Amino acid sequence: MELYQMKPKNIWAVGRNYKKHAEELGNEIPKSPLIFLKSPGCLNFESTIVLPDFSKNIHYECELYIKVGNNLLPETMGLALDLTARDEQDIAKKNGLPWTLAKSFKGACPIGPEYKYTNSEDFKKLSFLFKINGVTVQNGSPQNMIFDLDMLLNFIKDHFPLEPGDLILTGTPEGVGQLLPGQVLTAQIKGFPELTWMVK
Ligand code: ZN
Repeated sequence: MELYQMKPKNIWAVGRNYKKHAEELGNEIPKSPLIFLKSPGCLNFESTIVLPDFSKNIHYECELYIKVGNNLLPETMGLALDLTARDEQDIAKKNGLPWTLAKSFKGACPIGPEYKYTNSEDFKKLSFLFKINGVTVQNGSPQNMIFDLDMLLNFIKDHFPLEPGDLILTGTPEGVGQLLPGQVLTAQIKGFPELTWMVK
């Protein structure tokens, strides 16, 4: 777990990359990757999550991330929370407006330590769990991604200025929901250490 205090230039996030999650929010299944940005300043390396007061409905979205190396290939991986002000996102979606307020507010990207990425076959076999107060609410695996990591990387490289050290958040499985003060959150890639956050 070296380089935990990473400073990417960009955080590329993927929306609706798990079919059941797209459906639970009433969204269509995308035909090509839906990419949005989170500001690198959103990264939160602490074990405390402070909910912002501009939103009444901050959702968790637990996601696998990868960090790309100098060759722009995956180098490390880990878990992050793509916190989302769902009320603001609903307003933005309805009005065809950008998601910046919903996705890129201060503290919107709690992130766990990075572990070595081996290869795409191993990555596909990973599974991860996200729990609130000990109860599993999300359970995901890259096997269920609509666009796999290779496809996402190619798409991002083709369209955007991907840079060494950038993070890619690969999307969330179904089971998203609201964060509330006092919750204890745990997240774990099977076979790796468990992460814990306290919600304030
Ligand atoms: Zn997400």
